[in-house]
Amino acid sequence: MSCCSEAVALPKHKDMAKVAINLSTGALQQEEVIVGIDLGTTNSLVAYIHPETKKPVAINDLGRGTIVPSVVHFTPNGETIVGNDAKEYLTTDPSNTIYSVKRLLGKSYKDLGEHKDYFGYKIIDDDSEGLVKIRVGDKFYSPIELSAEILKELRERAEHALKTPVNRAVITVPAYFNDSQRQATRDAGKLAGLEVLRIVNEPTAASLAYGIGIDPAEEKTIAVYDLGGGTFDISILSIHQGIFEVLSTHGDTYLGGDDLDRAIINYWIQENELIADTLNRDKNLQQELRLKAEEAKKTLSSNEVYTSNLGDNIECYITRHTFEELIAPIVAKTIDSCRMAMADAKLKPEQIDAVIMVGGSTRVPLVYEAVSEFFGKPANNTLNPDEVVALGAAIQADILAGNRKDILLLDVTPLTLGIETMGGLMDSIIPRNSKIPTKAGRQYTTSIDGQVNMKISVYQGERDLVKENRKLAEFDLKGIPAMPAGFPKVDVNFILNADGILKVEAIELRSGVRQEVEVKPQYGLTDSQVEQMLMDSITHAREDVSARMVIEARTTAEQMLYQVERFLEKNGEHLTEEEINLTRENLQKLRDALPSGDKDQILKAVDILEEQTSPFAERVMQISIKKAMAGKKIE
Ligand code: AMP
Repeated sequence: MSCCSEAVALPKHKDMAKVAINLSTGALQQEEVIVGIDLGTTNSLVAYIHPETKKPVAINDLGRGTIVPSVVHFTPNGETIVGNDAKEYLTTDPSNTIYSVKRLLGKSYKDLGEHKDYFGYKIIDDDSEGLVKIRVGDKFYSPIELSAEILKELRERAEHALKTPVNRAVITVPAYFNDSQRQATRDAGKLAGLEVLRIVNEPTAASLAYGIGIDPAEEKTIAVYDLGGGTFDISILSIHQGIFEVLSTHGDTYLGGDDLDRAIINYWIQENELIADTLNRDKNLQQELRLKAEEAKKTLSSNEVYTSNLGDNIECYITRHTFEELIAPIVAKTIDSCRMAMADAKLKPEQIDAVIMVGGSTRVPLVYEAVSEFFGKPANNTLNPDEVVALGAAIQADILAGNRKDILLLDVTPLTLGIETMGGLMDSIIPRNSKIPTKAGRQYTTSIDGQVNMKISVYQGERDLVKENRKLAEFDLKGIPAMPAGFPKVDVNFILNADGILKVEAIELRSGVRQEVEVKPQYGLTDSQVEQMLMDSITHAREDVSARMVIEARTTAEQMLYQVERFLEKNGEHLTEEEINLTRENLQKLRDALPSGDKDQILKAVDILEEQTSPFAERVMQISIKKAMAGKKIE
C-alpha cells in the first residue's frame, strides 16, 4: 500500500517547487517558505526552517504559544473561532464547538462503532458507507471542512508571524491512516488554500526532527512512541537509503493523557467524601476539578507532591508515588502494545537502534522509564515532545523545497493518478509526489441492483472533477454476477513500475472476474504542461472542493431516493397510509432539493427523510423474525 513507505525526496520537476500563486490576488510570486504542519487530534502546530539558523522552529504568533488546540467554535452569526479561544466554549456551548475532528476524517458513520457517544456535537447518522457529516445549526460540515478551518488558522498565524504568504505545506498523519484518511487530509489542506506537497507519517517526521534518516547512507530501525492527550500509538520504522518503511504500528485511539487525568479525579473523589458531595451540588466544580487534575499530573512530572485547593477549602493532594500506582495499568497497556508491534515487525528490543518520544504525556517520568526499560535503552526525549512532529514536518518541507542538496533524489510521480467515481468525481489512488515504484488500491461496489458491468476510467491530474483532468484509459469489467447494489466487491489496483508504466487491474472478489490495462501516464506530457495542470488545481481549488461537496451530497441523496423507493415497493404493506403519504412527501421534497445545487439544502432533506424512515426497517425486520419463528416449533 502507498501508506507504508515514504521517501525523503525532491519532486522531479525542480522548477515547479519555486512557483507559487497568491490565492487572494491570483498573481504568481516567488516564495521560499514551505511550512510543516502537525494536524493533531487535540493540538496542532506549524513550524518552518529559520532562514538564518537553518533549524526548525515552531511558530509562536503574537506570543500565543506554539500549540493551537484543534477546536473549532461556530458563533451565533456563523463565524468560526479556532484554538484556545474556541476551547473555552467546549463546556458552555458544546453543540457548536467541534473537537477531535481528526477522529472523523475519512470515516463513515459505521466506522465510528462504539465511539459514537464520545462526541458532544451532532454527527449525522445516514446509516451508510458514505463519509460522516457534522450538523451545526442549519448547516452540514464534513470533517474535511472543519479540519480546513484549523489549517487556515495555522496558515494565518504563520503568515502573520513570518510576514510572508504561505501557500505550500507538508502535513503529517498517523502511520496507520488509510488512503481515504490521507486523501481527506490533503483535501482539507487544499480547502485551506494550501498546496500539500506531501503527506508524511508522524513517526517519520519525529525521526527527521532527531536527525535520523536524513543521511541516505544511514540504515536504522527505530521505534516511535507517541502518547498524546487522547490517543496512543507505537510505530516501528525501518530506514534505508532515505526511505522510511513502516514495519508495524499498534496503539489505542482512545487512550492518552486524559485517562491519566481521570485516574487522579477518581482517586480524589474516592479519598475525600467532601469532594464527592460538593461535586453533586455544584456542577461547575467538575470542570475545575478536571483542570486541577491535569495541573497535578503536570506538576508531578517534575515534583514529588501536588497540593491545591478546590473551591474555598477542599484540599486536593497527591504524591508522585500514588499517581504512579494509579497509572501503572495504563502505562502497562501501552507497553503491551509495544510488545505486539515488535512481534508484528518480527524484531527483538535489542534490534531497535533508537527510541523516540512524542506527545505531551511522554513527559510523565513513569512513562519514560517504562519505555526505556522495555527497549533496553534510554529513549530520545531532548526535543519538546509537543513540537517534535511539526519540527520534522518542517525539515521534510525544506528537503522538498530543494534546500538540502545532500539528500538523495528519488523518482516521484508528478501528477495524481485515479479513477472516476459517481457524479464524475476524481478518486485519487496514487497521489502526486509518490515515490515510484509503488502500488495502491481501493475497493468499490455497484450502485444499482443486478449491475453486471463496471466502467473503470483512469485519469491523471489534480482537479476534483475528472472532466478537468487527463483521461488515460477506460475499460469495462464485465461478467460481475447479478447481485443487489453494494454487494459486489471490486478491487481496483494501480501498479506503477520504476519506468513509470501504470498497470490498472480490476477484480470482483466474489466471482474472481478480472480485467487489466497498461498505460504510460507521462507519455506526451511536457514539463510545462505538468506545471500548468498543477497551477490550475491551485487557482481552482475552492470552486473544485465546493463542486465536489455538492456532487457528494447529490450522490448520497440519489442513493437514499433509490433505497426508500425500493423499500416502499417491497414493504409498503407494513406501513400505515399516513406513513406512506409522509414518506412520499419527503421523497418529493428531496427530489425538489436536488437541482438546487445547495449542499446544505440537499443534506437537510436527506436528514429529514432518514429520520422519518429509519424506524421502518427495524419494524419490517421484527415482522420477518416473527414470521420465521412462527414456522418453528420448540419441542
Ligand atoms: P499532545 O496531544 O501531544 O499535545 O499531548 C497533550 C497531553 O500532554 C495532555 O494530556 C497534557 O495534559 C499532557 N501533558 C502536557 N504537559 C505535560 C507534563 N508536563 N506532564 C505530563 N503530561 C503533560
